[in-house]
Amino acid sequence: MNKLIGLLLKRKKTILLLFSLCFFTYGFSQNVNSKDSITIKSIYNTALLDSACYDWLDYLSNNIGSRLSGSLGAELAVTYTEEQLKELGLDKVWLQPVMVPKWTRGIAEYSYIETSPGVTTTTNICALGGSVPTPHGGLKAEVVEVKSFEELEQLGTENIKGKIVFFNRPMQADLIQTFRAYGGSVDQRYSGAKEASKYGAVGVIVRSMSLRQDDFPHTGAMSYGDIPASQRIPVCAISTNGANYLSATLKLQSDLLFYFNQNCKTHSDVQSYNVIGEITGSEYPNKFIVVGGHLDSWDLGDGSHDDGAGCVQSMEVLRIFKKIDYKPKHTIRVVLFMNEENGLSGGKEYASEAKRKNENHIFALESDSGGFTPRGFSFDIDDNRFEQVKSWMPLFEPYLINLFVKGGGGADIDPLKKEGMILVGLHPDSQRYFDYHHAANDTFDAVNKRELELGAAAMTSLIYLFDNFFK
Ligand SMILES: [Zn+2]
Repeated sequence: MNKLIGLLLKRKKTILLLFSLCFFTYGFSQNVNSKDSITIKSIYNTALLDSACYDWLDYLSNNIGSRLSGSLGAELAVTYTEEQLKELGLDKVWLQPVMVPKWTRGIAEYSYIETSPGVTTTTNICALGGSVPTPHGGLKAEVVEVKSFEELEQLGTENIKGKIVFFNRPMQADLIQTFRAYGGSVDQRYSGAKEASKYGAVGVIVRSMSLRQDDFPHTGAMSYGDIPASQRIPVCAISTNGANYLSATLKLQSDLLFYFNQNCKTHSDVQSYNVIGEITGSEYPNKFIVVGGHLDSWDLGDGSHDDGAGCVQSMEVLRIFKKIDYKPKHTIRVVLFMNEENGLSGGKEYASEAKRKNENHIFALESDSGGFTPRGFSFDIDDNRFEQVKSWMPLFEPYLINLFVKGGGGADIDPLKKEGMILVGLHPDSQRYFDYHHAANDTFDAVNKRELELGAAAMTSLIYLFDNFFK
């Protein structure tokens, strides 16, 4: 028995050696070598065998919960992540003060479709972030369904005045990149109330930004633009099932009434913080690499995918470097940005302080697309350096990372953008992201431990390569 195992092990060693030789000589640019693949392997081993990110996310999701800017949850998350970063033995950990908006949902929204007096069907809605409340006691009116702002304009004031406008253009399901489908529909959510109020609408319903048919309404940011406070109309999202039901019922009875009641409120701005930790660079302490996500979340779920995942993955990057005893040449900062969802104050404040202090940021990576299996990265980078970055792709092949594309970095790091700086976004598989995005089901159970860890490992590996090969 032992002999047989010995023989198998010997053969396994030979196979491994042959495999390694093939791998190490395959298509690398001259500046990456077997040492890099060994380091990347140890990064992945640490992430998969000995991670902290899933436990951090468990605490953020299940002990703290939602973290909307200005809420108690956001405050607790600041304290918790600061404590955890301090335990990592980083060179510096600190809080960067930032003023953030505060908006509260109030008691749960309520809505129904009324087809004749007393005959009602309840629907699932939620107020969009930043919406005004309905008048006291709620709002009931006829509904006009539209698919676009052009259709709204064609209908004009005579058809819209005094009614509720229902924006019902679904996310485009034939787009493989779901973020593109989101980008193609989200104007209804962001500007629907502003546009409808121009024609005398009294309220707005928006189909939830989701590709799935279910009963969850999805909130998200909206804006009234420069419409005066007295003319602002309440706006809610309706679940995709609710949207289909309302649309089908309108076809049978165009004069049905829709009732909704929401009690949300905008308060004065409050003080909050970005949470920052740093490993000071051994060769270039004044050149900064940032990795981050946003610590705030919408209030309906626990913000586990959006963006608890990105925060704990970013923390994990620095933890892995400490764990494998890698001493970065550049200063590497983890930044947990506050207020991405409804204002971006954290990202803007971080960038303006960096500018004030003349800090030379050379690279930033954001994870804000969910904690799903990583597929690759999008790079905001010049063509020459992109060619060099693409020569690293074979290093990622064993980990099934094969998407290196040009594109944006992320909302929180974009304000840092300046000539020559590289901004990168982690691209996880996006097919299920909008099932959870900004909805009550964005909870810890929706995140897979292994997928989360693979994302952290991919991020750490990319930062390791940048730290080594860019000056
Ligand atoms: Zn996000």
